Amino acid sequence: MVAEIIAIGSELLTPHRTDTNSLFITDHLNRIGIEVVLRTIVGDDRERLTQALALALQRSDIIITSGGLGPTEDDLTRECAAAALGKTMYRDSSLLNEIEERFRSRGLTMPSVNLRQSMVIEGAQVLRNPRGTAPGQWINHDGKMLILLPGPPRELQPMFEEICIPLLQRTGPPSVLLARSLRITGLTESAVEELAAPIYTQYNNPVTTILASPGDVQLHLRAKASQYSEAKSLLDELSCQLEAKLRNYIYSTNGDCLEKVVGNLLHQQGQTLAVAESCTGGLLAERITDVPGSSDYFLGGFVCYSDSWKLNFLDVPADVLEKHGAVSEPVARLLAEGVRKKAGSTYGIGITGIAGPSGSTPSKPVGLVYLALAAPKETQVLQRLYPGEREIIRWQSTQAALDMLRRMIVSTMK
Ligand code: ATP
Ligand code: MG
Repeated sequence: MVAEIIAIGSELLTPHRTDTNSLFITDHLNRIGIEVVLRTIVGDDRERLTQALALALQRSDIIITSGGLGPTEDDLTRECAAAALGKTMYRDSSLLNEIEERFRSRGLTMPSVNLRQSMVIEGAQVLRNPRGTAPGQWINHDGKMLILLPGPPRELQPMFEEICIPLLQRTGPPSVLLARSLRITGLTESAVEELAAPIYTQYNNPVTTILASPGDVQLHLRAKASQYSEAKSLLDELSCQLEAKLRNYIYSTNGDCLEKVVGNLLHQQGQTLAVAESCTGGLLAERITDVPGSSDYFLGGFVCYSDSWKLNFLDVPADVLEKHGAVSEPVARLLAEGVRKKAGSTYGIGITGIAGPSGSTPSKPVGLVYLALAAPKETQVLQRLYPGEREIIRWQSTQAALDMLRRMIVSTMK
């Protein structure tokens, strides 16, 4: 059984309102093993909405709409759903009484526009809405389910969780949908694809998707089964093969971000870190301290942007700066070693580079970055040349520096 969602409301097509109802609905459907295969946003337009509903009824088993159940002229969902189903509507007098009573209890008379909210599609089950006037409706039709929900999240959420989910659970065989995210850094999306595709394409279940952002590739695995343990072992089997292939390019198998993984390692090992950042301007320290509990292992960082700060605070000798330039292998090394010494930490990281768009020279292009890691036994330096904008170069630099540290800690644990 697959579902699709139609979010209704012209405001959702503007930059001012986001369709969060669909995310909520998707999350809850996935938890009971129902996959959402399509999501549409339609404005308050009679013809387009009727078309969207008719099309959805042809192709999906479960169609869930949100919005457009209010009392005003632009609330068209009931009428359009009836038209798409080829059904009539009738006035439900007990529903009308309830809506009138809602107004009466607040000392008001029901405005006549609210009459339309008591219109029910022939054969529909009415979903009561104690938090608003717009009731939902559930229609079974030709083996399909069409569920109309109100737009306001505070009305939709309890209605969906408390009424619809239990009803949906009863309609099909029990099933669960489990997801796992393998996160990878140090390989491009196509390199990951080349290694992983021969493995994951052999499986229809779990379904694998690959998501990439700068410095980070995710293999997203989703397994469906009738029981939790079965779904889990399907995930374990595929995950195990992918891990064997991608080895330590995988930094997390539970969706954790790299700064969290590194933080956990430092914490487990009882080790500490300090950083000296030039072109990343504090981004590395920010990412590290985004993780709650980072005060356990992170001592602090210098943003040593100018040559004078590199010299005065981290003791990078003037002649080295002069001879090699601030963006150079020796300066990165001295920054890492300098900050490690000043802080008395287990590890020191130094980053220096050209984030652009200006500042490049023929021998030092935009995107050139040196990353150094000073550890108790050695200092490692990497030279990288990142493509892209300033923001991406800075991000990639912090990602690579964190990964250097991760690999170093993991290697010392073996
Ligand atoms: P009402 O009786 O409030 O008119 P309704 O069912 O007609 O209910 P809409 O008028 O479509 O719902 O939406 C009411 C409000 O609910 C919107 O202004 C918006 O703030 C919120 N809303 C509607 N749809 C969504 C959505 N898909 N995601 C998040 N919020 C939404
Ligand atoms: Mg409305």
